Amino acid sequence: MKKRGLLIIMSGPSGVGKGTIREELMKQTDLNLFYSVSMTTRSMRPGEQDGREYYFVSREEFDRNIESGNLLEWAEFVGNRYGTPKDKVEKMRNEGKNVLLEIEVNGTAKVLEKVNGDDVLSIFILPPSLEVLENRIRGRGTETEEVIKNRVNRARQELAYKKQYKYAVINDDLATAVNEVAGIIRSKM
Ligand code: 5GP
Repeated sequence: MKKRGLLIIMSGPSGVGKGTIREELMKQTDLNLFYSVSMTTRSMRPGEQDGREYYFVSREEFDRNIESGNLLEWAEFVGNRYGTPKDKVEKMRNEGKNVLLEIEVNGTAKVLEKVNGDDVLSIFILPPSLEVLENRIRGRGTETEEVIKNRVNRARQELAYKKQYKYAVINDDLATAVNEVAGIIRSKM
């Protein structure tokens, strides 16, 4: 029988570079990762594709998924809803894949209430400083000033949740951060 895959939760404030770290991790095929694509009600950013970054759905469709019990967890983030489809996570872990969730702090708390143990890894990605973080959120140039301000505030609050994670990795240099995260995953495989 195949060994059941790990559940890897990666969080960190907006702009910290989680998405880039995830892309680099996915290239390392020996990590045997499956990225769990979330559902969201936020609108698509330029360059994003439905089903790749997210399943982009209406608020009504999202709420139907909550009611049907299809989500492992969900949370509200700066005016939108985000959630993890449950079935895929189970199926892929049973097939031996290490499933990677990239979710925010409240969703993480809900997942950790339901599933925990040695095969659940929670990793928090930290910015070198808040100033660096704000510059990165601004530099992305995809959000309005109001959304940027909300995301920076939210980032400040999220940093306080570091302690609910087993591991913390600082993303100062991308390659170093990716190596650290990959090392954590390998040590548990
Ligand atoms: P963004 O709009 O920048 O893509 O994502 C905003 C935040 O929502 C990020 O912190 C991201 O990790 C989080 N997020 C993405 N998908 C999910 C999900 O399925 N559940 C939860 N709780 N958070 C999510």
